[in-house]
Amino acid sequence: MRVVLLGPPGSGKGTHGNGLSAELHVPLISTGDILRQAIAEETRLGMAAQADVKAGRLVADETVLGLIETRLGLGDAVNGFLLDGFPRTVAQADGLAGLLQAGVAKSLDHVVNLVVSAETVVNRLRDRWLCSSCGAIYNLRSKPPKVAGQCDLCGSALKQRADDEPATVRARLEVYDRETAPLVAYYAKRGVLRNVDAAGPAEQVYGAIRRILRPAA
Ligand code: AMP
Repeated sequence: MRVVLLGPPGSGKGTHGNGLSAELHVPLISTGDILRQAIAEETRLGMAAQADVKAGRLVADETVLGLIETRLGLGDAVNGFLLDGFPRTVAQADGLAGLLQAGVAKSLDHVVNLVVSAETVVNRLRDRWLCSSCGAIYNLRSKPPKVAGQCDLCGSALKQRADDEPATVRARLEVYDRETAPLVAYYAKRGVLRNVDAAGPAEQVYGAIRRILRPAA
């Protein structure tokens, strides 16, 4: 199963992607996570991407395509993958199509478009906290941790993402509308777009995605 999770920041790509990855036994590949890790480790990629990630701007297409080519070439992606936060531009989508045609992986089965309003996104990201160790995602309103400030799964401290602060979220949403939203028409034209209303409760949205990816289950 080869799937792209499309949708603005805060639409639930990571939250649902984590569950789907475990259930479908395919890796969740998030270019944002790869870049944040590179920044934390101060690698050459991290140093080059740092300023753009901090400001909510897109990292150069060639850079992101290079890291996706490497990642899709790893053994665990042979039988499928869920892409979170990639592609984000038409050039990246064309680059991905080229990689798939060249046999780095096979063609996409579904592009799941998580549809949600800008207002919902700003509110969700203001309340989003992440585990500093395992990356589990919480929301103070809809999915609070059992113990304040602590991950339910591993007990590590929770933290907020620097780019989830409202002014940067607004910049990221503008970038999304300008650069990424055209991918909705791009994938609709190719017959793989599946729209999901992502404004409701998480279990409902997860169920809707699951029905698309596993219609017989
Ligand atoms: P995300 O975790 O998907 O919200 O991504 C966080 C940040 O990483 C974005 O605001 C961009 O600066 C950068 N980024 C992640 N994925 C991409 C991508 N596919 N193309 C360009 N920049 C990206």
